[in-house]
This record gives sequence, C-alpha cells and structure tokens, in this order.
Amino acid sequence: MLKHPLEQSATIILFTVVFYQRYQKTMTCEHLNNLTVENLISKAAYPVFRCEECIKVNSRWVHLRICQTCGKMLCCDSSKHQHARRHYEATNHAVVSSAELGEQWLWCFTDEQGKDY
Ligand SMILES: [Zn+2]
Ligand SMILES: [Zn+2]
Ligand SMILES: [Zn+2]
Repeated sequence: MLKHPLEQSATIILFTVVFYQRYQKTMTCEHLNNLTVENLISKAAYPVFRCEECIKVNSRWVHLRICQTCGKMLCCDSSKHQHARRHYEATNHAVVSSAELGEQWLWCFTDEQGKDY
C-alpha cells in the first residue's frame, strides 16, 4: 500500500533529524571546544621533557603528551607503558596535547577526536 506523500516526507524528515543529531553528537567535543591557544598548557612551560612515570619504572618512551587538565607530561600510545592513556583511564582527564617539537595538536580520549591549534 502506498503512503500518502506527506506522510512519506515526514518520515524522511524524521530520519534526517535523527541522523543529524547523532552526527552532531559524534562531531562535538566540549573538551576541545573549551581549549584555545590562550588557555592551553604549553610545552614551552617545561624545562625538561620526560615521562615522569617512565622515569619511576626506569623505562623509555617514544613520544610525549601533556595532560591539559593537570599538566602531567606522559608517554604516548606507541610507548610501552602508554602512561598518557593510563592517566586518562585513572583520572578521566580527557585531553592531551603533543609535546613533540613542531607538533601542535590536541587529542580527546573521551570523544576520540583531535584538532590542530
Ligand atoms: Zn572531548
Ligand atoms: Zn611513560
Ligand atoms: Zn591529568
């Protein structure tokens, strides 16, 4: 049985709205939106670049990240101990920035989104 044309378009609009809401939800990260060049914790503030947790266990790291909530410098996902991710899991501090020279990006663990700054 054919639906009335108005009913059909209403169904299409409803689907479009639901899809758009989902899309927006996955595309929006409050954590990243709240961080700007002016208020983020800059790597320039660090006299030494090291993962303090790796130092404690006498290990090495590959790349370094800075927790944008508390300022801890920790190692990346390519590092053996993944201290930045462990820190996120333990504290729920969502956003890290890269501490690598020449890199200017942020990553939110909660929303799995990144952005350049
Ligand atoms: Zn986020
Ligand atoms: Zn580490
Ligand atoms: Zn932190």
